[in-house]
Amino acid sequence: MPLRMLAVILMGVATNSWSAEPVKKVLFIGLDGTRWDAIEAAKTPNIDALIAKGALSVGTEIIAPRETKGDTVSGPGWSNLLCGVWPDKHGTIDNSFKGMNYAAYPHFFARIKEAKPQLLTASYSDWGPIQSKILSHADEVVAEDAHGAAAYVDADARLAKACATHLREKNPDAVMLYLGQDDETGHAKGFHPKVPEYIAAIERVDGLIGEVVAAIQARPTIAAEDWLILVATDHGGAGTNHGGGRQNPDIRRTFLIVSGPSTVQGKVEEQTYQVDVVATALTHLGIALKPEWKLDGRAVGLKPAAK
Ligand SMILES: [Zn+2]
Repeated sequence: MPLRMLAVILMGVATNSWSAEPVKKVLFIGLDGTRWDAIEAAKTPNIDALIAKGALSVGTEIIAPRETKGDTVSGPGWSNLLCGVWPDKHGTIDNSFKGMNYAAYPHFFARIKEAKPQLLTASYSDWGPIQSKILSHADEVVAEDAHGAAAYVDADARLAKACATHLREKNPDAVMLYLGQDDETGHAKGFHPKVPEYIAAIERVDGLIGEVVAAIQARPTIAAEDWLILVATDHGGAGTNHGGGRQNPDIRRTFLIVSGPSTVQGKVEEQTYQVDVVATALTHLGIALKPEWKLDGRAVGLKPAAK
């Protein structure tokens, strides 16, 4: 083979220009205490854009289909979402975190690092226990512990900015961004689509989502990447609370958005659960779900070829 031809071949390999397979990456945006009917009532152009390019499930259950003791609060909710198993496995049934068993059922970053240690992970959160109790295996961490609605408004903005900067300038493969102001506003003013302050919080959060999505789109390598963006919540709300809400659909039934080029666009008809987030994220990253992880969820909204 002429040397020149060989050089061209090697160049093609080095730049990945012959590979049709883009680099798979995941961003999970977690919105605390956000009711789906309030998102529908609010002006949320950035969430709408994600839905337009993805799969939407309405009625995502936060309660396990089998008997577990998990309350409808953040501790079990974020554990379900981040560990991909129900409270009888991760052990967290309330916000005391008594009984937590993240050693056996860790944050999904641990599964990523086990399967593909070279992948980079990043976490942004302003509800303290996400960082102090649940998070592990993060290469980049920005964590705050906010208290009160006003503090969460400021902290969320800082987190989104830090996350966007990291997405533009670094090369993470799996990113989790938690935003807490919807929940704090719900506790202060009411979780309901008719509460203006709650709607305003959701609209601010939508603006932060827009910043982060714009940062992904501005990545210099975006043409060779396939980002999956998931959006979910830990629970809804009623009045100014959400605890003890296992019988209340406004609290226990939420939503799941799975957006990006690898998704089947449109409404997801099958029942979805909080624990599906981890299975979906890992599957998108090309990580086979090991039986010994005992994950409770399954991949949702992905094209069959990607499963
Ligand atoms: Zn709450």
